Amino acid sequence: MEFLPLFHNLRGARVLVVGGGEIALRKSRLLADSGAVLRVVAPEIGPEVRELIERSGGEEILRGYTESDLNGCVLIIAATDDEPLNAQVSADARQRGVPVNVVDAPALCSVIFPAIVDRSPLVIAVSSGGDAPVLARLIRAKLETWIPPTYGHLAGLAARFRHQVKGLFPNVQQRRAFWEDVFQGPIADRQLAGQGAEAERLLQAKIDGDAPATTGEVYLVGAGPGDPDLLTFRALRLMQQADVVLYDRLVAPAILDLCRRDADRVYVGKQRADHALPQDQINQQLVDLAKQGKRVVRLKGGDPFIFGRGGEEIEELAAHGIPFQVVPGITAASGCAAYAGIPLTHRDHAQSVRFVTGHLKNGSTDLPWKDLVSPSQTLVLYMGLIGLPVICDQLIKHGRSADTPAALIQQGTTVNQRVFTGTLANLPQLVAEHEVHAPTLVIVGEVVKLREKLAWFEGAQASV
Ligand code: SAH
Repeated sequence: MEFLPLFHNLRGARVLVVGGGEIALRKSRLLADSGAVLRVVAPEIGPEVRELIERSGGEEILRGYTESDLNGCVLIIAATDDEPLNAQVSADARQRGVPVNVVDAPALCSVIFPAIVDRSPLVIAVSSGGDAPVLARLIRAKLETWIPPTYGHLAGLAARFRHQVKGLFPNVQQRRAFWEDVFQGPIADRQLAGQGAEAERLLQAKIDGDAPATTGEVYLVGAGPGDPDLLTFRALRLMQQADVVLYDRLVAPAILDLCRRDADRVYVGKQRADHALPQDQINQQLVDLAKQGKRVVRLKGGDPFIFGRGGEEIEELAAHGIPFQVVPGITAASGCAAYAGIPLTHRDHAQSVRFVTGHLKNGSTDLPWKDLVSPSQTLVLYMGLIGLPVICDQLIKHGRSADTPAALIQQGTTVNQRVFTGTLANLPQLVAEHEVHAPTLVIVGEVVKLREKLAWFEGAQASV
């Protein structure tokens, strides 16, 4: 091991930074964040560095470096592009036995800056010993995506209960098992989901020995429109820890594959008018599984609260006192519009956007037609394929121009995406001509024209 990682408590300690430019700024920021008092010496010091000096209660010295600048400093940073000067600073610091870092010159350093993942109080440092800082940064990026931003709150929770737990278990092994259980179970889930008070309540109950019988919980997760890359970090994390996954027809196999390998997968998908499982049975199944102590992911296409009946499912859970969280997803409108190059709003063409269901009840729709015909409003129709002839007809009858540009986006955001554009007048014809099938989203409005300039994603077949 070339360098021993140690975490340096710099609170209130004086640190010398030689240099006042861009490189000095980056280091000064980190140093100020960790509570160091900055002394910056350079003939010129940039305004941002100045601000940091002030914030840290430090001092600026507007001249060239001299050896005596080291006086009283516990750490020295040489951050200039003058190599001989950097070497001089390094030699002086080593002479005095004070740790020194020279930016981008590992040979002149006695200490180096790692790449940092900051989940304070939890901090992860990654170093390549100065050999491959880019590699260290890439590892850092992986860790950033893997460890949720609120992870540090878990450490905060532990800190608040540490003494109590220590009193309860004098034995180290028991203590370790207790905390492992806390950090990997529902208490941690609560804390990470932003329910800190509930996490504390559960932890206290666990300490007091009257923890409730293990109930499971349900995660209502939006899986996005199809491209697995559009999942949220939280969706992925919960998918990887669930015992059971209940999923719909809209959830792509590539997304399902990201669930925990040994999780049970239950298909509860719905075809139009041919429900594989009636909604109340899905609701009941969620309740039953959670009562058996299972962690259940209810995976839904797009966003669970947009034409997803997510509200009904969690109403049932709430009525049974079963804990749940809702993870939003990218809804079809956002996903398809982005991947088809159609901005849903635009300063010149559309000041508002409206999401509408085109699902017909008994062969007709009772949409508020008069509200849907403003030329400056983009309309997005979910489930609009079957009812499309009626919908286009009604929109035209109520005053929306028959020439209004419109698009059909089938299996948007996936490699099978197909896009067809036309007008309100000929849209139903396009469906028949190109054998367009579900899932397809319909976008109506002037913004559709922008696709000519803004299309970027190829999908299966990019047509006009
Ligand atoms: N909760 C989902 C919508 C469910 S309703 C969401 O937020 O996206 C189902 C309808 O969504 C489909 O009939 C179709 O109109 C639309 N849809 C969902 N995913 C789609 C996709 N990848 N491409 C095109 N339309 C999609």
